[in-house]
Amino acid sequence: MTDKNLPEPPSHLSPDEFRKHGHALIDWIADYWDRVEDLPVMSQITPGAIRDQLPTHAPEAGEPFQDLIKDLDSIVMPGITHWQHPSWFAFFPANTSPPSVLAELASAGLGVQGMLWSTSPAATEIESHVLDWLVDLLDLPTSWKTTEEGGGVLQMSASDSTHTALVVARHQAAKLGISPDSMVAYASTQTHSSMQKGATIAGYGHIRLVAVDEEQAMRPDELRVAIEEDRANGLSPIFVTATVGTTGTTGVDPIRSIGEICRDEDLWLHIDAAYAGNAMLCSEFRHHQDGLEFVDSYTFNPHKWLMVNFDCSVFYVANRSPLIDCLSILPSYLKNDASESGAVIDYRDWHVPLGRRFRALKLWWVIRSYGADGLRSMIRYHVALTKQLAHRLENDSRFEVVAPYPFALVCFRCVESDEATTRLIEAVNATGNVAWTGSELDGRPMIRVSIGQRATEERHVDALWSLIDELA
Ligand SMILES: *Cc1c(COP(=O)(O)O)cnc(C)c1O
Repeated sequence: MTDKNLPEPPSHLSPDEFRKHGHALIDWIADYWDRVEDLPVMSQITPGAIRDQLPTHAPEAGEPFQDLIKDLDSIVMPGITHWQHPSWFAFFPANTSPPSVLAELASAGLGVQGMLWSTSPAATEIESHVLDWLVDLLDLPTSWKTTEEGGGVLQMSASDSTHTALVVARHQAAKLGISPDSMVAYASTQTHSSMQKGATIAGYGHIRLVAVDEEQAMRPDELRVAIEEDRANGLSPIFVTATVGTTGTTGVDPIRSIGEICRDEDLWLHIDAAYAGNAMLCSEFRHHQDGLEFVDSYTFNPHKWLMVNFDCSVFYVANRSPLIDCLSILPSYLKNDASESGAVIDYRDWHVPLGRRFRALKLWWVIRSYGADGLRSMIRYHVALTKQLAHRLENDSRFEVVAPYPFALVCFRCVESDEATTRLIEAVNATGNVAWTGSELDGRPMIRVSIGQRATEERHVDALWSLIDELA
């Protein structure tokens, strides 16, 4: 019997229309990657220019899908800064890649919520398994695997991972009766802003930034002094972030020495390897992470340098019990036999959000498509290009390289004057052909050149060097 009062069912693009527009869109992306090199790297528009092209009100009637794709070119592209441009030397890379994009699409098509094992077992099991693979690939402690006492989980960003670690450490300390107001979190003066933000959100009363040496690495002696001073003042040292590959200069904090202090003083040790963690695929970089047996938690971003498009940040804990103890809350509608059996992982207990996408698919597909060896070759290629540029700078009396370059970032300034450095930053950016980042070190201007875009080749770095040579 049909109810005459029932409205019409909603209409959608038909499967055939979806197929047609989907194919067109894949063509569009492939063409974009083909031509991105010829576009100005940075968006050239003025504030408001994109909004001015949008109608004041949302459309009442649906529009033909071709028009939506057309507006990618006419409205969106002028407002895009091309992170996928081979002459992208700014910040750090934010790479995407064909297998990653295709996996992202498949994940969207499946549209699952993987908050519990039972809400899509494949999402959880593939995530756990691939993150266990990465424990071996990066030579991390075996105990960090989900098959052991630790475990990995994908988060949106390293900022989330660091914040989560801070929250777990605070929770443990609070159970001992320590007040958050008296808690202190430590990191070097070169730490990423996410550390300060995470500690503030997590309610730590104090954040102490510890001095670095001339190689931009945290000084363990200074950390020890800071901890002693804080204890003498009635405060409670709780948490240390050590960074492997700082954002400013890729400085590396000495994990082993810091770890020994954390062990003696009973502090939580978190490693922020957001960028440089990716390099640990290659054994020649692993001396930079010596001392991981002292570590409680670790984060790195495949969405920076491993060709998995944003968002994909890995968070490991050496022991998952404190994490789950802190974050697990069980309302009755989430109760189920699998969870109660204790035989499965429910990732909702491993981070702040409840709902979660099938992010592991793109990490899985990227690793399978390139192979570990393909990924290692990419890292080594970028590092070799960086050394080449650094040697050119070092062998030219107009420039000075201002920090070690253990990975694929080189920082330099003009010897002549700070004004010359600032002029060079602006002159190169004004060409529109490349993007790099002007920054500061010890209160003086410097230039960061990060070489890690997926499509960057020797000719792009040569072209950058020609610009530097010509405009300095
Ligand atoms: C990029 C970076 C971060 C922040 O990463 P998000 O994933 O964007 O939060 C944190 N720490 C370091 C050292 C970084 O380079």
